[in-house]
Amino acid sequence: MSDSDRRHGVDRVQAEEAVRTLLRWSGEDPAREGLLDTPRRVVEAYTEWFSGYEVDADAYLARTFEEVAGYDEMIVLRDIEYESHCEHHMAPIIGKVHVGYLPRGKVVGISKLARVVEAYAKRFQVQEKMTAQIAGCIQRALSPLGVGVVVEGAHECMTTRGVHKRGVSMITSTMLGSFREDARTRAEFLRFIEVGGPRR
Ligand SMILES: [Zn+2]
Repeated sequence: MSDSDRRHGVDRVQAEEAVRTLLRWSGEDPAREGLLDTPRRVVEAYTEWFSGYEVDADAYLARTFEEVAGYDEMIVLRDIEYESHCEHHMAPIIGKVHVGYLPRGKVVGISKLARVVEAYAKRFQVQEKMTAQIAGCIQRALSPLGVGVVVEGAHECMTTRGVHKRGVSMITSTMLGSFREDARTRAEFLRFIEVGGPRR
């Protein structure tokens, strides 16, 4: 068995067997032809959905740029799409993240911010925690004057089970530094991202 067949102390065979157990629990026969390859596919999907555990989010922001010709205004990246899974039901959370920061001499490549979002999203999550983790990562790496992170998420554990409410999205935010202390900075950020404004 190769290394890639064992992750975090679990053999692939065990992981596939766990999927068969859930199929049986649901009322299915895992030996039925249409389901024969399902455990393998599910385990492979998990490898992708939870790839964030293999990633060091801080490392994405290790390379910063200081030559910004004195640029000292807010930098905002909005509508970063993400797919995550809630840690309570292992059900998908689909949404968008908006990130803003007020640099203190150092900026980072914008694709790197999207990478940070992905690193935290591709784990079992609680939306509040993910919001704080993204903000904390940017704060650690760039020591900016302020950071704002707003996350919108539709939770399938709420739309497909339980209360069955569709079209509901949860919005969470973490504001640090000037985004927390200065109402004008915060307002400027919220205006840029238009959360709660007209649907695009
Ligand atoms: Zn849930």
